[in-house]
Amino acid sequence: MLSPRRFFVVDDDRFTLKLITLFLQESGHEVDSARSGTEALERIVDFRPDCLLTDIMMPNMDGLELCRQVKAQPELKDLKIIVVTGKNYDFDRRAAKAAGAVGYITKPLQKDAFIASLRKILEDKVVLDYWGVRGTLPVPGPRSLRYGGNTPCVSLSFANDQLFIFDAGTGIKELSRSLLQKGGRISAKLFISHPHWDHINALPFFVPLYIQGNEFEIMGAQHGDLGMKELISAQMEGVFFPITVREFGASIQYRDLHEEKFEIDGIQVETMLLSHPGNCLGYRITYKDRSVCYITDNEIYPPTVPEYNEFYIKGLADFVRETDILIIDTSYTDEAYKSKIGWGHSCVSMVCDLARRAKVKNLHIMHHEPDESDDDIAHKWELCKKALADLGSETNCIAPAEGERYEI
Ligand SMILES: [Zn+2]
Ligand SMILES: [Zn+2]
Repeated sequence: MLSPRRFFVVDDDRFTLKLITLFLQESGHEVDSARSGTEALERIVDFRPDCLLTDIMMPNMDGLELCRQVKAQPELKDLKIIVVTGKNYDFDRRAAKAAGAVGYITKPLQKDAFIASLRKILEDKVVLDYWGVRGTLPVPGPRSLRYGGNTPCVSLSFANDQLFIFDAGTGIKELSRSLLQKGGRISAKLFISHPHWDHINALPFFVPLYIQGNEFEIMGAQHGDLGMKELISAQMEGVFFPITVREFGASIQYRDLHEEKFEIDGIQVETMLLSHPGNCLGYRITYKDRSVCYITDNEIYPPTVPEYNEFYIKGLADFVRETDILIIDTSYTDEAYKSKIGWGHSCVSMVCDLARRAKVKNLHIMHHEPDESDDDIAHKWELCKKALADLGSETNCIAPAEGERYEI
């Protein structure tokens, strides 16, 4: 729920104005409105709104000019402006941002989605959705009803409309459905940890890739001569799949990543090579004062084995230090790990030790081993909580289930 606010709405279309007013009033907000920019400028100061919603295409003064004039007034310069328009071009989105708008919502409007969009923009939350939390193999059936049976796919969405997707395991199919249901043009950055099957094999079923007008950038680490483009194409070539990447209708860029730092629209991305066969990247995403780390697949060797690497553990702890949410491969209990040493995945005690060292705020365990049932995962979660308590750590631990959402 969006806490009650005062909205001033500007739209030249009488019906739209009525509809937006109704949606807002029904949700407990106070509303005043005007049918032109000039009228809005005359009355807006007296109403003292928390937020101005404006259309773009209006006679005389368009919505972007209204944004500029509002921002030029000292008593209104901090007023949050959201553009509500039928125009769905990148050019207009950029122009609205340049004119001072903090958000952009496209018509047609549906009440629940509209209020949810307003909330996302005004509260400026980072929204984390889980679409698949199982490792190695999808495991449908009665043993995986609680946590879900899909392989890794996690998304982060931001108030500025950026959508980051991590991995394209079978969970991405449900994300695909959810995005199509919302409608409109889809644009996203897709970060692949590594090209093992459980992290890429549902990419060909991500329908938005086939739709003209959508835009994606697919990023991940190179493997020898094979860049991201070749790695994605290879699983869709010849006898392995009947459709090739040439059938993708969306505009798609591929980007090979190393250990590096870069920024996308005010969101910082950092990468780190993980302990796993081949090149596997972990990601740290920072937005304003918040951060989320996505670390899978990854083996933190315990001190009892010769491969133990304190230098690597310290580096990883620095990488995830004090993050709000650490999403991490916790495939095994310590007991199960004994027969899986060198498989590239971590156990409870080492993950909890990392969380303690790095003073992680919330630990989210995932990439569960395919033989584990829901009850086994719940048991592993209890073991994590106990391990953290024994270490004197204040880290909160969660075993997220497919379909769950967290806000940061
Ligand atoms: Zn995996
Ligand atoms: Zn792997």
